[in-house]
Amino acid sequence: MTEQYGDLRELYQEVIFDHNRHPRNFHAIPDASHTADGHNPLCGDQLTIYAQLKNGIIEDVSFVGHGCAISKASASLMTEAVKGKTVAEAEALFHDMHIMLTEARPEGRDFGKLEVLSGVREFPARVKCATLAWHTLHNAITEARDTARTE
Ligand code: ZN
Repeated sequence: MTEQYGDLRELYQEVIFDHNRHPRNFHAIPDASHTADGHNPLCGDQLTIYAQLKNGIIEDVSFVGHGCAISKASASLMTEAVKGKTVAEAEALFHDMHIMLTEARPEGRDFGKLEVLSGVREFPARVKCATLAWHTLHNAITEARDTARTE
């Protein structure tokens, strides 16, 4: 492991710790147009995603719940990443995130801050923690009613 890689890892961990300790958009939206529950029984992560959609755009998005640092940080980063995006853009980002977290980094996509979760790929058991919020958002904005499970 090179020195530079170690520094990057540390920075990534700091961002994850920060989002776990101070999650962004961590509240309910009582009159949200779309909502879904997510559950990762392997780790005990449980969350609810709220989305306010207008003309195909995610005007507001938030979450509540409890779980491990990865699941909470991932949900927090996700809300920041998809707010203001169209449903189609959010779905495309979900698709690419899933590839980044399970296979390899897709070419030609700038993940911005979401990049900090890329290290999860080395820990298959934690992938489900990182993808839970995304699966749940997908269910919320596509109006699937079932609880998302990353079992
Ligand atoms: Zn977890």
